[in-house]
Amino acid sequence: MTALLSMQDVARTYVSRKGLLGKRSLVRAVDGISLEVTAGETLGIVGESGSGKSTLGRMALGLEPPDEGSVNFDSGPMPAYGTPVWRSLRRRMQMVFQDPLGALDRRLLVLDQIIEPLAIHGSDGDHHQAGQDALTAVGLSADHGQRYPHELSGGQRQRVVIARALITNPDLLVCDEPVSALDVSIQAQVVNLLIDLQRRRGLGMMFISHDLRVVRQISTRIAVIYLGRIIEQAPATILFQNARHPYTRALVSAAPAPGPRRTERVILTGEPPNPAARPSGCAFHPRCPVAVARCRTDIPAFAQVGADHGAACHLLSPAAKVAAR
Ligand code: SF4
Repeated sequence: MTALLSMQDVARTYVSRKGLLGKRSLVRAVDGISLEVTAGETLGIVGESGSGKSTLGRMALGLEPPDEGSVNFDSGPMPAYGTPVWRSLRRRMQMVFQDPLGALDRRLLVLDQIIEPLAIHGSDGDHHQAGQDALTAVGLSADHGQRYPHELSGGQRQRVVIARALITNPDLLVCDEPVSALDVSIQAQVVNLLIDLQRRRGLGMMFISHDLRVVRQISTRIAVIYLGRIIEQAPATILFQNARHPYTRALVSAAPAPGPRRTERVILTGEPPNPAARPSGCAFHPRCPVAVARCRTDIPAFAQVGADHGAACHLLSPAAKVAAR
């Protein structure tokens, strides 16, 4: 199936405001990532804070350009941000952010905010009715549409943001930590809503989260990123049954399937990833429980380790196994 979104070797470097000793330094937030999202599937992106996952999401929608590599949407190159052609494509690709209150205007009624994109994109039809339908689709009532954002709960506000994102019938939805600010009991409701909407509409979705438990519920495939690189990618079921990269194995052991635990919990020690101080070689080596000498000097290549399953670890390539003995 043709990819709806295709990113090839994308990289993005920032100048940090505060480097060591107050000096500015270059931070490579995303470092050569390739991925695809097809219609009707959800690609989960999981990684810790500072791993580059939000930058990746913004590049996927053309909100930021990559410094290197390319982004294609529906087989064509992503147009430059803010250009008329990008604005016309924007209707087809939408984003849901972590903070629903920040994404909404406190001074406007909910219904007016939901239908605003229809006016921006010059859509035909009865906008008011479309807004009512969107409220119903996300499990809210007409009454919710006549309130202000601060009069709703956190979960209701995120439903409003989702309704607003979906009212233009997009093909691609990028969700960046959409449930992180919500109570755990509400998280499941919003995730189930996204699953239902994604299936009914055949959306291609990129779901970004630091929480593998949440990513697991919704994703068809999962890419695990660490300091700007994908270190493992596989269909969700395979990733949970047979994670190969030591970092993924640690994440999976901390987010086991319901029922009796089958694997030992792997506790990661050491500092969480700091994009301003990337370790040499394999960036995970200071925390890796099975690192070998080569890991401190050589960057492992991303390689196939099974059908539709790739990982970047020296111990998973035949040459590295010989060297590690
Ligand atoms: Fe660990 Fe080395 Fe594999 Fe990196 S390359 S995950 S440090 S064993």
